[in-house]
Amino acid sequence: MSEEIEKVKCMIIGSGPAGYTAAIYAARASMKPVLYQGMQPGGQLTTTNEVENFPGYPEGVTGPEMMVQLQQQAERFGTDVRNGWVTKVDFSGDIHKVWIEDKKEIHCETVIISTGASAKYLGLESEQKYLELGGGVSACAVCDGFFYREQETVIVGAGDSACEEAHYLSNICKKVTMLVRRDEFRASKIMAERVKKVSNIEILYNTETQEVLGDGNVVTGVRVKNNVSGDEHEIPCTGFFVAIGHKPNTDIFKDYLDLDETGYIINEPGTSKTNVPGVFVGGDAADHVYRQAVTAAGTGCMAALDAERYLAAKNG
Ligand code: NDP
Repeated sequence: MSEEIEKVKCMIIGSGPAGYTAAIYAARASMKPVLYQGMQPGGQLTTTNEVENFPGYPEGVTGPEMMVQLQQQAERFGTDVRNGWVTKVDFSGDIHKVWIEDKKEIHCETVIISTGASAKYLGLESEQKYLELGGGVSACAVCDGFFYREQETVIVGAGDSACEEAHYLSNICKKVTMLVRRDEFRASKIMAERVKKVSNIEILYNTETQEVLGDGNVVTGVRVKNNVSGDEHEIPCTGFFVAIGHKPNTDIFKDYLDLDETGYIINEPGTSKTNVPGVFVGGDAADHVYRQAVTAAGTGCMAALDAERYLAAKNG
């Protein structure tokens, strides 16, 4: 026999700063939010060590600690935080349907999407090994650059993000080697020109990563190949940064919501509204520009306020 369908006023999908901030506001507005944490409870910040740029933490805070505190704050006001992930939605009707792990069906008056984005990686076995070990592979220079102070680092990518991160690292590290797979940058001219001028950034064109080298615990270098000459060589480094773009976690919404070519949800400018009434978005799922914890928290707040106003207008 199938389970009884649960009905909720406000469903929040995702548990990063956007989701928890939306939950705090929705709970305090008596919307009895239910929040599903998703595959990575706490979101991208749980893979970050120290967060030093979130206002209100003068001494800094670790990413995981901050996410525990945000969860506690959301629960304090009655948010029902649940483990599990949403695998399917149906936004075709007035009531929005959401399925948890393809089994449990929930009918929602409002939905706040805060599923975030995931950094892309090269997919090399050696890269994944040291990423999982926390041994020197990172997709966020602003988060982790500090750990490689006065050391040598390598960064892969040739877009605006890679340029921005290489520039950031060059102020901290002894040397930064940038691996560009083609013979030119993808980044805007101004960003590319800026990195070319920095004395401790070396740019290697037509260069691809073959293997991340290490001692079994931490990264010690990278083996690279020139894709024109076929020559291979090793570059010593302690930090290996990947800046080849992000993928928003929005696949399950693509049949119902307007997405841009990369998959970011398109919101009505200046609001958190999607093209479906009653469905709102906060955080990186709709933001490829700022991607900060504090901006995610801000847009999560907007989503809860927009959802509250939507319900007030609908229910009178
Ligand atoms: P982009 O998609 O613009 O660039 C990705 C880069 O990674 C490309 O140079 C690409 O190479 C390279 N790449 C992809 N896969 C691989 C691979 N397997 N091996 C090696 N290199 C690879 O992503 P960004 O994150 O840089 O930028 C995303 C968006 O955000 C852009 O619109 C950008 O303009 C914007 N942005 C703006 C900023 C600003 O204005 N301050 C700052 C940061 C981002 P190739 O060129 O060969 O395809």
